Amino acid sequence: MTAIAQLAAALPPGRVLTDPDVTDGYSRDRTFLPPGRPLGVVLAQSRDEVAETLRWAAAHRVPVVPRGAGTGLAGGATAVEGCVVLSVARMTAIKELSPGDEIAVVEPGVITADLDRAAREHGLMYAPDPSSYEISSIGGNLATNAGGLRCVKYGVTRDSALGLEVVLAGGRVLDTGRRTMKGVTGYDLTGLFVGSEGTLGVITEAVVRLRRAPADPPATVAAEFPGLRAAASAVSAIIAAGCGPSMLELLDRATLQAIDDWKHIGLESSVEAMLIAQADSPDSAAVAERMRRLCEENGASFVAVSADPAEADELVGLRRLAYPAKERLGNCLVEDVCVPRSALPEMISAVEAAAARHDVTICTVAHAGDGNVHPVFVFEHGVPEPPPRVWAAADDVFRAALDLGGTLTGEHGVGLLKRRWLSLEIGPVAEEVQRGIKGVFDPLGIMNPGKAI
Ligand SMILES: Cc1cc2nc3c(=O)[nH]c(=O)nc-3n(C[C@H](O)[C@H](O)[C@H](O)COP(=O)(O)OP(=O)(O)OC[C@H]3O[C@@H](n4cnc5c(N)ncnc54)[C@H](O)[C@@H]3O)c2cc1C
Repeated sequence: MTAIAQLAAALPPGRVLTDPDVTDGYSRDRTFLPPGRPLGVVLAQSRDEVAETLRWAAAHRVPVVPRGAGTGLAGGATAVEGCVVLSVARMTAIKELSPGDEIAVVEPGVITADLDRAAREHGLMYAPDPSSYEISSIGGNLATNAGGLRCVKYGVTRDSALGLEVVLAGGRVLDTGRRTMKGVTGYDLTGLFVGSEGTLGVITEAVVRLRRAPADPPATVAAEFPGLRAAASAVSAIIAAGCGPSMLELLDRATLQAIDDWKHIGLESSVEAMLIAQADSPDSAAVAERMRRLCEENGASFVAVSADPAEADELVGLRRLAYPAKERLGNCLVEDVCVPRSALPEMISAVEAAAARHDVTICTVAHAGDGNVHPVFVFEHGVPEPPPRVWAAADDVFRAALDLGGTLTGEHGVGLLKRRWLSLEIGPVAEEVQRGIKGVFDPLGIMNPGKAI
């Protein structure tokens, strides 16, 4: 019996897929990266099935690629040759939702927005909301330490992760963290697993923090600018003035144009950038007015303020369309640098300079309130790899971010895409320490090999 047939026999019927036409659909994330051919795909439905798979993988020295919803933008869930793809997308139970303790206990396959909707029924919310929150999973969010639109006020996924259940390479089950808001017993293993991109183990359950949902709809500010740098300066001014927005998003002309071409939003020709800001505090109307003034002082050509929830949903919906709109233009290399917020205008200038220097189309959106900039390098549909001029422009952008005191990736992770730049940021000592940590959890080197570190 082949190794994969042994695994199929050890799991309940239907859990292991081996037909290449089917497994191909589980072999890629949302990057252009060509996957290796997996031996099979496991559709696990419980922690015990994950553990069985990891015991089998260790015995047969088979690489394991953990997979959530496959929406990643760094190649983290891209299959490697001869691996087993271990999908936890069918583990979708919200096992507990405690309004008293403001926590939820969830399986990893829960879709992010589903958890938020469940929490809202109790006057709570699950704050981290990547633009992909209707299609990404909590397990994937934890494994990438996903950010999102509300993170400027409520923090990234790590700030909502209290405890994890993780199946380690070889099948042992590790519980990290706790159900309490505080706790310092032992090393912070929860923090270590958050953002580890499936290289240390498979998350099979999480205790996450919920927060009170704001009582009233947010006040929303939409500001149009004649230049991207002016919009970035307005962001820095809003942060420096202590407005405390609950959302502060930036879209450039190319992104707005892509959305307009698709959804016909009536974009004026003079608009080069748009800021979408929200305030959800009890004094949201006053905060929105301050943000309006700061936008005007920094050169906005038009600013609208609204407390109408339908208008707010429409604007935020536009922002969430940014990535799919760009995918219509061509293949995309989606980047994710993050800089100190005061350096946002310089970062924007560096992106514009890289586009001009290498003659590359770059559409930029930003979780601007976090200094997190997504330059999206567009190249031709059907071309499997970005051409050299795209990589050269990306290289310029990465180096500029590091020179400004920033990082290569604010929220998407290193995956496969950014590994070659990793040492530029973390240096040899940190690399050695990280390899040591990997070795402790995964001595055989079979957990998502070649990714993240
Ligand atoms: C339209 C669009 C918008 C996006 N917007 C944002 C955004 O605003 N912010 C943001 O942060 N990201 C964004 N992303 C990227 C992506 O949605 C996130 O990285 C998300 O967290 C990935 O979740 P997933 O369930 O799809 O994970 P996958 O893509 O399946 O996996 C991602 C990584 O996590 C690992 N992994 C998955 N599940 C587990 C598990 N249970 N245990 C261990 N490792 C696991 C995988 O091995 C891989 O390394 C966007 C993507 C798209 C397509």
